[in-house]
Amino acid sequence: MKTDCLIIGGGISGLTCRAELAKLGFASFLVEKRPFFGGHAVHFTCKATDRCRNCGACLIVEAVRDIESARDGSWILSSRVEHIQFNEGIYESVIFQEPARIDPETCDACGECIKACPVPNAIDEIPGRGRPYIRNELCLRSLNQACSVCAEICHRSAIDLSNSGKEIRISSPAVIVAGGFEPFDPSGKPHYGYRRVPGVVTALELERLLRRDQLNVSRGNAANPSIAFIQCVGSRDPRIGRNYCSQACCAYAIRLACLLKFKTPSLELTMFYMDIQSFERDFQQHLADAFSQISFVRSMPAEIRKGEDGRPQVLYHGPADERYLQSFDLVVLAVGMSPSETMPALDFLNRTEEGFLGDSGIKCTSSAPGIFVAGAAQGPKSIKDSVHHALRAAWRTASYLMECDRGADS
Ligand SMILES: Cc1cc2nc3c(=O)[nH]c(=O)nc-3n(C[C@H](O)[C@H](O)[C@H](O)COP(=O)(O)OP(=O)(O)OC[C@H]3O[C@@H](n4cnc5c(N)ncnc54)[C@H](O)[C@@H]3O)c2cc1C
Repeated sequence: MKTDCLIIGGGISGLTCRAELAKLGFASFLVEKRPFFGGHAVHFTCKATDRCRNCGACLIVEAVRDIESARDGSWILSSRVEHIQFNEGIYESVIFQEPARIDPETCDACGECIKACPVPNAIDEIPGRGRPYIRNELCLRSLNQACSVCAEICHRSAIDLSNSGKEIRISSPAVIVAGGFEPFDPSGKPHYGYRRVPGVVTALELERLLRRDQLNVSRGNAANPSIAFIQCVGSRDPRIGRNYCSQACCAYAIRLACLLKFKTPSLELTMFYMDIQSFERDFQQHLADAFSQISFVRSMPAEIRKGEDGRPQVLYHGPADERYLQSFDLVVLAVGMSPSETMPALDFLNRTEEGFLGDSGIKCTSSAPGIFVAGAAQGPKSIKDSVHHALRAAWRTASYLMECDRGADS
């Protein structure tokens, strides 16, 4: 099959590029490294309260349905581009598809392998499917260590760890990189106690708990449970070399807090912040609502420690440098967006000072001809902004492909 464009990444940006290129009459081939589509947004919960809060989480559902209904061999999951070479106007890409170690037909999603796996989260659930998948970056076997606990425990023999992957080659005049971002790992700010102090979670973990209806905040005073949000964790922080704003965090945290309050009206919510920023059109309305439901404290906490009652305790300072210590049932770290892992195959592309894939002066382009960048791969964005950016990337790609065709005809 002729391929006009290789799309790397099946989050909202890659899926938007694919749909738009198809509308414009171009054939693409999409490569996603995980065994499911949707990127980070697939883990988000809908933040509607008594009304829609425009969080954008639903946009991913339709995009995923659209690609999954195309059974035309134009996409591939669990795969990575290993190598890309530019040869006479064509990008020759070598893709490695990881072996399907858990047979979806045989697996009955009993969850025993997840419980038995010695590495936390190395076997996770495919969002919305309940079926497990192996995260090769954490799996001991994939890291060449001896382990077959999951295969041994599986009562339906659905796990075969001896499967090997395969190589696929794609030639295309254009490539769109939509590899997205990585959430900031708060272990980089050890004083916030992440993974050390019980009850400290990231906003992404909170999203997953809410989506699975597994949130339980009644650790201490069950009548009035309390939750604190800490903003700008891994954003606007020159001390850790991250001086940029992650753009989506104020809006997502405020929506999450309002959703929690809507679900549990007795909840006491506090938000620690240095500045509230959002570029969304209807954000002022959300903020006005939030002020009546959340206590905003303009201070970045110095430390989160385990209190005597086992709950997380937040140490912060007031405007006159007075010291406060306040306990909460749950502390949510509103983590920012970091550049995605380096893709060795694309090491030749320029990156911005922050490490995202840089434009060559024109939006959505890169430092190489015919390679375009879409969504959060180019810098932090909300879902809606990623969609707009991806549409623009698709249009630029289409113009480039038409120019290539004209060049070939003349
Ligand atoms: C905690 C948190 C909460 C958020 N909540 C909201 C919200 O409520 N509303 C909102 O508008 N925005 C929110 N955002 C921002 C939102 O996550 C992004 O706007 C959106 O995910 C960007 O989509 P993307 O497709 O560009 O990137 P991603 O979602 O990161 O998707 C990239 C995809 O590319 C794949 N990929 C990466 N590298 C490769 C590779 N080498 N080969 C193949 N595939 C690859 C990844 O597996 C992934 O599927 C939130 C962000 C965070 C951190």
